Amino acid sequence: MTTQQSSAPLVTLKLLNKEYGRFTAVNKINLEIQQGEFLTFLGSSGSGKSTTLSMIAGFETPTSGEILLHNKSLINVPSHKRGIGMVFQHYSLFPHMSVRDNIGFPLDIRKTPKAERNKKVDDILKLVQLEDFAERPPTLLSGGQKQRVAIARALVYEPEILLMDEPLGALDKKLREDLQDELRQIHKRLGITIIYVTHDQDEAMRLSERIAIFKEGEIVGLGSGRNLYDSPPNAFVASFLGNSNFIKVRAVSTSEAQFEQQTLKFREQTTPIKTQADILLMVRPENLHVLSEQQAEQEPLTVEMNQIAATVEETVFLGESYTCSVVTESGQRLMSKYISKDHCEIAAGTDIVVRWNVNHTNVYDQWKQSDITKA
Ligand code: ADP
Ligand code: MG
Repeated sequence: MTTQQSSAPLVTLKLLNKEYGRFTAVNKINLEIQQGEFLTFLGSSGSGKSTTLSMIAGFETPTSGEILLHNKSLINVPSHKRGIGMVFQHYSLFPHMSVRDNIGFPLDIRKTPKAERNKKVDDILKLVQLEDFAERPPTLLSGGQKQRVAIARALVYEPEILLMDEPLGALDKKLREDLQDELRQIHKRLGITIIYVTHDQDEAMRLSERIAIFKEGEIVGLGSGRNLYDSPPNAFVASFLGNSNFIKVRAVSTSEAQFEQQTLKFREQTTPIKTQADILLMVRPENLHVLSEQQAEQEPLTVEMNQIAATVEETVFLGESYTCSVVTESGQRLMSKYISKDHCEIAAGTDIVVRWNVNHTNVYDQWKQSDITKA
């Protein structure tokens, strides 16, 4: 079932738009969601994630555009007929009903026969590991358990799609991580399509097969976490996901730029960089290696490496890793991250060189300062 590669997407968003008065909350989004995938909408607060999800669920009506399920329009299909389950941050459980009856509720309103209903509830109780709590009221459960009940209740009538809007947002970090692992397992076991909303990039990375990055009502990056992280499509995504070193330079050819006294190389781009263009080079801190001057002499620079001379400003021990900030002659600050067991701390004031592989250099010629300034 998982190997089946249906070419038609399960859900298609076409130029989906939502305006509140003159404010555009969702700006002509196009997106195809495949059957069985775990897709996450990731973006900062106000970027349009929940509005998009609500339109798929049928709680909000698009101003224009189209939502297709199996190639059929959902626009005039009421929410409860869309075959979509939904879980929010704030669980709306019935406090006076047992866990079992809370979970059975969607089946009761669908008038599912008793025996079938009980079997389904038992199965789902097992899936979310709440068998021992079935007879308790939700008021006696912890936050994580309550959210498992909410997930179970959304799954029990076997919706084709499960939409989740920051469902773990109210829980603390450790519990959130446990539930993320559980959710991934549930997704794997059921093969259901999940569209998940979060502003937490670790959560998005941990859960999703694909991530759609939202910014001001638009999707500005779409791909696997790995892909978006290693090869961000633009400077905003690079800056938003993880940590980045940005180096502003002027191109001197389609694959070289000048920085201080050094020439920095980058891969030729599909749309070649213009000579004299002001471009941005991006290197992830873990790809930037600090070498003492002595080490640098012993390891000659190869053609695929870039090098910049700098001085160590500060080294910070973070447990499994160190971060080392260095500063160049012109005041460019760069961050290197390395695994503690392989290296030791380098004293502030030490002259060093930093090196990185040309293949680890991302290049942007269309960017704004606000793309790389973290709010
Ligand atoms: P997110 O979920 O990414 O935090 P939302 O989709 O909830 O963002 O909201 C996107 C933007 O639309 C926000 O600026 C928000 O203030 C605005 N918005 C959402 N709902 C309404 C509404 N009912 N009326 C007016 N503005 C709204
Ligand atoms: Mg939201």
